[in-house]
Amino acid sequence: MTTLTSNSEALQNQAARSVEGVHRSTDFHWVGDGFHVATYFPSSKLSSERVSPFLLMDYGPPHDFAPLERGKRGVGWHPHRGFETVTLAWEGAVAHRDNAGHQGVIGPGDVQWMTAASGIFHEEYHEERFTRRGGRMHMMQLWVNLPKKDKAAPPAYQPIPSSRIPAVPLADGGTVRVIAGEYAGEHGPARTFTPITLLDVELNRGSRLRLALPASYNVLAVVAEGGVRAGRHTAEAGELVLFNNDGAEVEILARDASHVILLAGEPIDEPIVQYGPFVMNTVQEIEQAMLDVGRGKFGRVPE
Ligand code: MN
Repeated sequence: MTTLTSNSEALQNQAARSVEGVHRSTDFHWVGDGFHVATYFPSSKLSSERVSPFLLMDYGPPHDFAPLERGKRGVGWHPHRGFETVTLAWEGAVAHRDNAGHQGVIGPGDVQWMTAASGIFHEEYHEERFTRRGGRMHMMQLWVNLPKKDKAAPPAYQPIPSSRIPAVPLADGGTVRVIAGEYAGEHGPARTFTPITLLDVELNRGSRLRLALPASYNVLAVVAEGGVRAGRHTAEAGELVLFNNDGAEVEILARDASHVILLAGEPIDEPIVQYGPFVMNTVQEIEQAMLDVGRGKFGRVPE
């Protein structure tokens, strides 16, 4: 029996990806005056090729805000072109508005998937009642790249309330919320331009997340709470695990009750030129974006 067990474990380990590295960001900063985040990438430690199709990850661990009687906290009108912004909130509430006529509130468990593509202006503030009452904000914003052929697509907006996100129970305790891609036959509601799997996972102590993903996908896991084991590595709250592209499955074992966000996707193998809020393929396209903002090609900013 012992032999059988170790054989099956060896087979399992063969199928599971190894871990390339565990990263922690110390680059905390404020986005406007509303979002206290650490930028995990872009960074010198995580190359754009290894995190593609994701471009940027700002993670805002739980942060307490005092009640504010007047005014608002956040970031005012600013443009984007060439990619998508994905905002997730676990605590607090983010109010969003763009100049394509979309607006909404991203509350606990909700996700907002905004396609900037050809060009958009938007603003991101704490929701008003949350601002007045004060409280805890826990959020993440991802920038997802678009392939060259889709960078000029019209702007779009997908509000994804928590109620639309399937939650799959794990056998040994915990839940997998499927935001994009597929897990255990459940499909996430987010429509994506390139193949992406985005899972929001709660693991009980000792429980295991295991899923098959194409080896070509880049896979990252962010530990928001708790502590996990992946490959021969451990990762604690605030750490990001980057998996090697060397196996058919990804496996994460919870050493404690843990909250993990799993980001995976087919890399976009195209040149990236980023300048501030624009992500294009060439320097000329960045210059064009700046000209187009000045010429009103991103539309008008609402009053
Ligand atoms: Mn923005």
